[in-house]
Amino acid sequence: MTLVYQSTRDENNKVTASQAILQGLATDGGLFTPVATPAINLDFAQLKDASYQEVAKLVLSAFLDDFTEEELDYCITNAYDNKFDTEVIAPVIKVGNHYNLELFHGSTIAFKDMALSILPYLLTTSAKKQGVDNKIVILTATSGDTGKAAMAGFADVPGTEIIVFYPDGAVSKIQELQMTTQTGDNTHVVAIKGNFDDAQTDVKRMFNDADLRAKLLTNGAQFSSANSMNVGRLVPQVVYYVYAYAQLVKAGAVQAGQPINITVPTGNFGNILAAYYARQIGLPVHKLICASNENKVLTDFFKTGTYDKKREFKVTTSPSMDILVSSNLERLIFHLVGNDAAVTKELMTALAEKGEYSLPQVDQDILGLFAAGYASEADTATEIKRIFDEAGYVEDPHTAVASAVYRAYHEKSGDETLTLVASTASPYKFPRVAVESITGIDPVDDFVAVAELEKLSGVAQPAAVHGLATAEVRHTTVVATSEMQAEVENYLGLK
Ligand SMILES: *Cc1c(COP(=O)(O)O)cnc(C)c1O
Repeated sequence: MTLVYQSTRDENNKVTASQAILQGLATDGGLFTPVATPAINLDFAQLKDASYQEVAKLVLSAFLDDFTEEELDYCITNAYDNKFDTEVIAPVIKVGNHYNLELFHGSTIAFKDMALSILPYLLTTSAKKQGVDNKIVILTATSGDTGKAAMAGFADVPGTEIIVFYPDGAVSKIQELQMTTQTGDNTHVVAIKGNFDDAQTDVKRMFNDADLRAKLLTNGAQFSSANSMNVGRLVPQVVYYVYAYAQLVKAGAVQAGQPINITVPTGNFGNILAAYYARQIGLPVHKLICASNENKVLTDFFKTGTYDKKREFKVTTSPSMDILVSSNLERLIFHLVGNDAAVTKELMTALAEKGEYSLPQVDQDILGLFAAGYASEADTATEIKRIFDEAGYVEDPHTAVASAVYRAYHEKSGDETLTLVASTASPYKFPRVAVESITGIDPVDDFVAVAELEKLSGVAQPAAVHGLATAEVRHTTVVATSEMQAEVENYLGLK
């Protein structure tokens, strides 16, 4: 039996896992989504001693069931190697009254590495399986982290080209330097005069532009997506929730079978959706807590059933969550309405045309799994300081949003279920915010902050930060949103 991935907007658009990965987005504008739950046996008595790679193989072979064992072995071994600075890949650490799942030990020190280190292998393997020899063009809009992680994954991978758009002035200095110093002849970085939603909207438009696709094909190329809408991003993220639970069992923190809560700092809804799929395949989960920053469109959605993007876009200290259109929520909506593509399409059309939609009758069991909350900028800074004072541990602002939302949830609900917080970035990626929250003094410069953070945390700066100050800046293009396509055509020699 091959698992069917169906577009959320067209019930006749059904593909296999490798086809979904290769296409990235469905051409009808929908997202490929599994319409059944893959059969898998999560035996934690055994899994507690399994390596990250072994858990990855178990989970990936269930979801990507048209890949052979050899193909998966190849992808997994190349992805989860010494690019990560710890053998366990994703450590689980007790911090105060919860556990942090550290997802930032890869080459760009943010959680996007967890999936983007394997995506290039899944993608090139999928192309080979489908007999495609076009050049694969990765087009990516990033709010700061995806872009670098994608380039790190794809740089100099034969047969690929990668173009990254990020909002000018809306990413941290460290994030910007990580991108603009990227090496690799097939990497291109463009700052746009707009916000992340502007970048993402135009990337989606280019994907669905039939003329542009045709032009590309004549030139022996085709688009694919490294954004979290790609199944090849989503599925590898299921792995670490299963792995983390196994680690909790191993540490004696939970008995196998005992439910946990998972709190996820959420932007595009990819990471928390992966936690939902982990629960679908048998991970014991009580609540999935969706944490937002001041761009709290999701908090309002879970509270009211209405998704309303018509609001002011706020630039916060957790920029990777500064998002008003959470793309992956579409997949949850699809499940909430009983995997009905027609209804999903209607709602998404309303969102595009009217800026809002309200949920019809939905599956209350699915909806009831979610709790939601948001942390203001002040809450986030207070949480960083509090965790430092309580546990001597420094959280990055994204993780602190989640940890603050969990703290408020815990106080209000009295729910004592053991809670795992997805820790999505190293504080070294946002050192100024971390240091200022703790000391009350803005270090003014990211690199001064790095030195101070080293003293405060007692954790040495990661290799990803070391050397950035002196690396050569290779990418300096800044364009208006309306010029994005011209840049793409220019890089690909379509002009
Ligand atoms: C991307 C990102 C998020 C948001 O994850 P989604 O899957 O988009 O919800 C949170 N924190 C950090 C550090 C990120 O890079």
